Amino acid sequence: MPVTIPEKMLPTIAIVGRTNVGKSTFFNRLMEQKKALVSDVAGTTRTSNVGIFKWRGEKYRLIDTGGVDFIKDTLEQEIKKQVTTALKEANLVIFLVDLKQEPLPQEKEWAKALRTLKTPVVLVGNKADNSKIRTQSHNPEWLELGFDEPFPISAANGSGVGDVLDIIIQKMKLPKASGKLRLKKSPIKISLIGRPNVGKSTLFNALIGEERVITSPIAHTTRESHDTLIIKDDKPYVFVDTAGIRKKSKISRGLEEGGVNQANESIVNSDLTLLVLDASEPFTTQDKHLIQLITEKRKGLIIVINKWDLIKDKTSDTPVIITKQLFSLFPPLAFAPVVFVSALSHKNVQDLFSLIDRVNINLHRNLEETELHNFMSSLVYRKLPTRGKGVRHPKIFALRQMAVQPPTFEVTIKQKTSLHESYLKFIQNNLRQAFDFEGTPIVVYVRKVRV
Ligand code: GDP
Repeated sequence: MPVTIPEKMLPTIAIVGRTNVGKSTFFNRLMEQKKALVSDVAGTTRTSNVGIFKWRGEKYRLIDTGGVDFIKDTLEQEIKKQVTTALKEANLVIFLVDLKQEPLPQEKEWAKALRTLKTPVVLVGNKADNSKIRTQSHNPEWLELGFDEPFPISAANGSGVGDVLDIIIQKMKLPKASGKLRLKKSPIKISLIGRPNVGKSTLFNALIGEERVITSPIAHTTRESHDTLIIKDDKPYVFVDTAGIRKKSKISRGLEEGGVNQANESIVNSDLTLLVLDASEPFTTQDKHLIQLITEKRKGLIIVINKWDLIKDKTSDTPVIITKQLFSLFPPLAFAPVVFVSALSHKNVQDLFSLIDRVNINLHRNLEETELHNFMSSLVYRKLPTRGKGVRHPKIFALRQMAVQPPTFEVTIKQKTSLHESYLKFIQNNLRQAFDFEGTPIVVYVRKVRV
C-alpha cells in the first residue's frame, strides 16, 4: 500500500533570519524548483512558505518563517512571529545569516530569542559563493550570537548545502529509520486486551474506520509489521499486535490466536491498554487473569465496556452501578476511567481518542519540586507519618518525582527509621486527589538517607 503521511507529521526544519539573508533562495535550493519569487530587493517575499524536500531518501518539511505578508512588521514583531512559528512547528531551526556582512545588531536580538528555545539551532552563513567569503565564517564576532561558528554555504550556487543538511539531520536526533516512516511526534502505543468474543476486532475496526491506516514499517515502534499506525487529527496512534485482529476480522471469527502469552506481550509493547469487557455477560476468571497481567505491568489503562447496546432498560445509574461492581471485584482497576461503548454501532467509540490523549498526558505528568513540597507539608500537617518497624518516629525529608510513565515518587526518610506501608498508600491516594492521574498507575517508594 503506498504510504502518504500528512505533511505536518514529517520532521520539520524552520529557517529564520533577518530580511535579505537569502532565506527564499535557500528554501528554493532545497525545493529545487523556483516556486518562490526571489529578488535582490529587501522585503520581497512570496505566498507559499512550506515545502517538502527529500534528502538521502527521507522526506523532510521545510518552513521559511520569513512571512507571507507584505506588510512591514517592526523588528520585534518579526522576531516574535518567526520564533513562535519555529517553536510550534520545528524539530530544528536554521538561523540564517549573511557572511558578506558583519553580524548586525538586530541579528543579536534574533539570537537572544533563539537561545531560549529548546529546539536545536544551527547557525548557517549564506552567500559564501567563494573561498574568500567562506573564511568570514571564522570571524569571532559571529560567536557573540551564542552559537557555533556559522556553517558556510551558498544557497545561490549550492556549495556546502549537502554538507549542512547532513549536519542538520544528525542534530535533529531522529531515530534510525532506513526505509521506515519518520514521524515528528512519537505515537502513543495502545494494546486492545480482552477475552475472546468481547468485541476487540469489532472495536478495532470501529476505531480505525474513518482514519487513514498506515501499514508500512514505522520508526519509533519495535515490532512494526504487527502494528497499525493511524493518524487522527494530525496525531499518530499505534495499535500494537493488530495483525491477528485484522486478519481475524477478515477471515475467521471465533479463533483466538496466542491467548495469554500474546496478551502479555502486547501489554509490554504498549504504553496504554484498552481492557475490553463484555457488558452482556458476567465478568469471568479469564477477565481476572487478564486484569492481573495488565495491572502488574504498570501501564496506562482505560476500561472499555462493550456491547452496551445489548443492555436493556438502562438508566443513568446503570453505568455507575456496573463501575462500582467492577471496582469492588477488582480493586486494582480503580484508577482507570470506564467507558461504555457499542463497537457494533460505533456509539462512543471515537470519544476514546480524546480519553487516550488525556491518559497519555497523565502518564507523563511531571510535578514541580515546590508543588510536591507544599503538597507533602500539608499532608504531614493533616496526618503525622506513622511508624513502621523502626524504633524511631519517621521524619519525611522530601517527596520527589523520579520518573514518568508511570509517575514515580520517592519519599526520603532518615536511616534507622521506617515508614508504615499505610502511609505510602495515604500519600498515593492524596496525590490522586490533588493532581490528575486518572488512567495512570503511580508508584511511591521509600529511600532512607543518612543525615
Ligand atoms: P473478539 O474476539 O474480541 O475480537 O470479538 P469480535 O470483534 O470478533 O466480536 C465477537 C462478536 O461480538 C461478533 O459477533 C460481533 O459482531 C459481536 N459484537 C462486537 N461488538 C459488539 C457490540 O458492541 N454490540 C453487539 N451487539 N455485538 C457486538
